[in-house]
Amino acid sequence: MNAVVLKPGRDKAVRNRHHWIFSGAIRDLPDFEDGAILAVRSSGGDLLGHAYFNRKSAIIGRMISFGAESPEAAVRASLGRALALRKAFVDPAVTNARRVVNAEGDGLPGLVADLYDDVLVLQVATLGMEKLKPLVLEVLAAALRPRSVLERSDLPARREEGLEPYEALLAGEAVDRVRILEAGVPFWVGLAKGQKTGFYLDQRESRRLVRETAAGRRVLNAFSYTGSFSVMAVLGGAARADSVDTSEAAIALAQENFELNGSPSDAGLFFTADVFEFLREPALDHDYIILDPPAFAKKRTDVVAACRGYKDINRLAFQRVRTPGLVLTFSCSHFVDETLFQQVVFQAAREAGRRVRIVQKHRQAFDHPVNIYHPETSYLKGFLLYVD
Ligand code: SAH
Repeated sequence: MNAVVLKPGRDKAVRNRHHWIFSGAIRDLPDFEDGAILAVRSSGGDLLGHAYFNRKSAIIGRMISFGAESPEAAVRASLGRALALRKAFVDPAVTNARRVVNAEGDGLPGLVADLYDDVLVLQVATLGMEKLKPLVLEVLAAALRPRSVLERSDLPARREEGLEPYEALLAGEAVDRVRILEAGVPFWVGLAKGQKTGFYLDQRESRRLVRETAAGRRVLNAFSYTGSFSVMAVLGGAARADSVDTSEAAIALAQENFELNGSPSDAGLFFTADVFEFLREPALDHDYIILDPPAFAKKRTDVVAACRGYKDINRLAFQRVRTPGLVLTFSCSHFVDETLFQQVVFQAAREAGRRVRIVQKHRQAFDHPVNIYHPETSYLKGFLLYVD
């Protein structure tokens, strides 16, 4: 059988169950069609597992099985384990939206699957996973019995795999939006045009934190998307929760999420605006500012510019927040790790001349598990800061 053979001494990562193979680690590459699954062997001839390969990608191979397990059995088993983990942590009667598969975090490179009530949304990032899609669909449809299955693979990164962005209805009826429940709170999720697959499921724990800490406060939800933090703040007894986002569609849905939760009309203001400019308004009276920007660093070479962006918004928030106040600040860039992010927040505090204390640290929610063998799956970090 055609096998990929790794160079001597370059098999350690795969033996440690890391999923990625770079071309520099490969000694022998047989003929193959891009997207094909091939056996991976050490230079000594040990079978290390199977990976799908694509010459167009900087990450030429991604492991889908380790040891002697067949690739198909491994995909089925990984999906089963992903479902079991979610079952252990959520009560579907109070939270019916969750990430069912978190790519390498669940041992399934290139695949994200989110369930919104009874609508399943897939995101496929790689050619190899594209070829495994029928198997994935078969297993997930049998386990979850969704009303509809959508694909939202509108990912620019697919171009590096030789794939075009792709969106389609894969099964069932077309759905434009769906009403979910998270910790008993209803939200609209736009499925046709929303960001990510529709909702930031990774912020579930932070939403709970906002609800617990907002009482009596005037909250500014910067980078609000569809207003989920604002809704939680109002439910938690905030005096007001204002939302700012550049996306008009997101702000419109944020207003609908307020209505859905019966929030009074003076519960918050909505602004379609750039946060970098908005935070320069001297008249702001908020004593709780939430900063949840998009990933400023999408690749390693962006890190310096990204840190400048994070520092600017955090400095502005420290300058603007009424004291004693709270700032809840996030970075979802994998390349800016927690240590670096804390340094950036330190610089921002220093420049603003404020006393800043970390009172809590936050990570991505449980259904975005970090694979201990593949730490690249960790990306979201946040600090709740007390500013006086
Ligand atoms: N906290 C949100 C998710 C935020 S995602 C939630 O839990 O749902 C980041 C958001 O920032 C996106 O909605 C995007 O439209 C918005 N955005 C990106 N750049 C922006 C800018 N410069 N000013 C305001 N909003 C911006």
